[in-house]
Formats: sequence, C-alpha cells, structure tokens
Amino acid sequence: MKTLKDFNFENKKAIIRVDFNVPLNDKFEVTDTTRIQAAKSTIIDILEQGGSCVLMSHLGRPKGFQDEFSLKHIVKSVTDIIGCKVKFVEDCVGSKVEDAVANLESGEILLLENLRFYAEETKGDVAFAEKLSKFGDIYVNDAFGTAHRAHASTTIIAQFFEENKCFGNLLAREIESIDKVLNNSEKPVLAILGGAKVSSKITVIENILDKVDHLIIGGGMSFTFIKAKGGKIGNSICEDDKQDLALDILKQAKEKGVEVHIPVDVVAADDFSNDANTQVCDIDSIPDGWEGVDAGPKSREIFDEVVNKCKTILWNGPLGVFEMESFAAGTIALGHSIDKATKNGAFSLVGGGDSVAAVKQFGFADKVSYVSTGGGAMLEMLEGKSLPGIEAILK
Ligand code: AMP
Repeated sequence: MKTLKDFNFENKKAIIRVDFNVPLNDKFEVTDTTRIQAAKSTIIDILEQGGSCVLMSHLGRPKGFQDEFSLKHIVKSVTDIIGCKVKFVEDCVGSKVEDAVANLESGEILLLENLRFYAEETKGDVAFAEKLSKFGDIYVNDAFGTAHRAHASTTIIAQFFEENKCFGNLLAREIESIDKVLNNSEKPVLAILGGAKVSSKITVIENILDKVDHLIIGGGMSFTFIKAKGGKIGNSICEDDKQDLALDILKQAKEKGVEVHIPVDVVAADDFSNDANTQVCDIDSIPDGWEGVDAGPKSREIFDEVVNKCKTILWNGPLGVFEMESFAAGTIALGHSIDKATKNGAFSLVGGGDSVAAVKQFGFADKVSYVSTGGGAMLEMLEGKSLPGIEAILK
C-alpha cells in the first residue's frame, strides 16, 4: 500500500483528491470544518517536503455551473485551517488552470473549482481524467468519502500515473482502521449495529458474522427481530417483510458461534416527540399505542458488560432516536461504555452516518480510537466490497 512516505515531494506537484464536500449556511460559511481538518495532515506533509499541492474536490450536487456550489466559498476556511495562503482558480480544467498550475511554486496551494460543474466527473470520463492528471507529478487520493465511486478524479485519473500514485494520510488511516477491525483484530470482536432499518444494514451483518464474536443489534431495527421471534412491539418501527431474514440472521449467527445481544427492555413513548409520555417496558411486551424509542436501563447495563469484555469494537448506528433529547440516553450510555473500554486498551471504530453525528454531538469523538469520515464508503467496506478509488491506487 503506497503512502506519502514512499515519495519525495521536493519540487514536485501533488494533485490531491480531497473531500471538501462541506456544509455551508445561507451566508456561504462553512458550518462543519471536519473534512477540511481531516485533509490537513497530507497537505502539510507535502508542503514541508518542498512540494506544492493542487487540490480538487466536489461540493454538493450541482447541475452545471451554479455559483452556490462554488468552492470559492470555502477558500477562507481552508486558508485558516491549513495556515497558509490558498490560491483559487475558477475552473478545474482548461487554460486558466494550466496557467495557474504552471505558476505554482514549491510550498504553495492551489484549489481548483468544483469538479462536478462538469458532468464528466461523475461519469468517470477518461478524457476529463486525463486533463486533470496533467496538473500533478504525483496523484494522491485522500478522499475516503468518495472512494466508493468510480469518478474521474477518484478512480479513473489513477491510470495516468503508473507508479506515481498513493494514498494520503487520511485515506491510509481509514483503510488501516477498517482492516484492524475486519482482518487484523484482537479478540473478542464486537460489532454494534443500530439505526432505523435492517434492510440498509443486512449486507454488513452478513459480512461481519464471519469476523465477530459478539453482535449487538439495537435501535429501530431490533424490533423486526423481536416481532419475528413472536414479541409484541406495539407501534415500534418494523420491516414486516424482513422478519424471515431476521430469523435467518439469528440462525446463521448461532451456527457461526456469534453471540447476539438484542435489547431486553426499552424506553417506550406514546408519541414520536420529545415531550411524549414514556415508560420502560420489556422489549417483547410493548403495549399497543406505544413505540420503542431507546434502549432501556437493563439493556444499557448488559451492553456495558459486553463492550467491556471486547478488545475490538465497531459501532455503526444509534441505539435510539438520539436526535430527541428524551430518547438519547441509551446511545449516550453506549458512548460511555465504549469510552471506558477504549481507555482499557480496546480498539474502537465508529463509522457510518448517524453514529458519527451522535459521537460528535455527545462529545465522544476524541474518546474512541477512530471516527471514520466516510459514511457510504465505510458501509461498503464493511459489506466486504472493494472500493474503486482504493483499487485504482493499488493497481
Ligand atoms: P441509520 O441511518 O439506519 O443508521 O438510522 C439512524 C436513525 O435511526 C436515526 O435517525 C435514529 O433516530 C433512528 N432510530 C434509532 N432507533 C430508533 C427507534 N427505536 N425508532 C425509530 N427510529 C430510530
């Protein structure tokens, strides 16, 4: 696996695919700079060696050129975070860019305009990728968030750099962290899968059953399992057509020696709102008119024990409707359990969409071993798929 360490960037131009797809408010200010911060280490390493950086990214889903999606809006944030001047060019291919790249000196950064102003980017157009490839001596992919897409700048471009291509620090760490959970893990290994739906996690569950010793199934998707086993779930969310699948997963887990832990009690609410009336009840006897919205106190205790006897922990998906304060306690308790296990030497990886939002919101982001930056990409790796953006560098 080639990384920055395999190259000397002195007097070289690095063309770097970063993921600067950041949220902007109505004044076009960046409201969450995590992704820019995440790219800093790669950029600094290259600059410190006397190289220069040509940065390319997408922002949103524009249809052709649309000013609101221009990367010019983020130049100030990138400048502040990286700590040196960032030049910007109002296109990502063509003569303006060629001139700007030709004039770029060692130690300088140039940010190109939004790649997705050209439909060729998402189509994976070879000619477009070749144009981009002319802007650097070495191609560096540091965009995990788009590594599962075979786009021009994430995958196709790599073929124009036979040897001179590598992973940036962020992407390398993402790959290493997931590998540490799936392939090089210290046992016992635990996966915690929560969130709303069985259907969106099924391929992940099937792939990780071979890799884990314990599986916690929490959140909304636990009710499909409980109903399939004959429990009463009241108005809790449930995918009726996935009940057979749920039973099959439990059977497979048993055959593979995986211990499955499903909440035994829940916080049930009489309305899907923060001020609803609540009661704690056994998960398989939720009264009609009530729905399970969070893991109950007994479940939190059981999960704490499981988490703290494991050495490798993967967490994807909240244990309840954590966006509402009244239903966040189960997810917060799990965060504390993982924090404690990590302090005692476990490796903990949090990834995939809502669990990342939850760990950030509740202050656990720097208490776990690693928080993945790519939702979809992370899920695809957990599903056992190889990602085109990663394959293209390894080729
Ligand atoms: P996912 O994107 O599949 O990880 O699902 C995350 C969403 O699941 C969050 O928005 C949670 O509010 C939601 N969720 C978790 N537990 C429940 C539950 N018991 N009932 C309804 N939604 C839930």
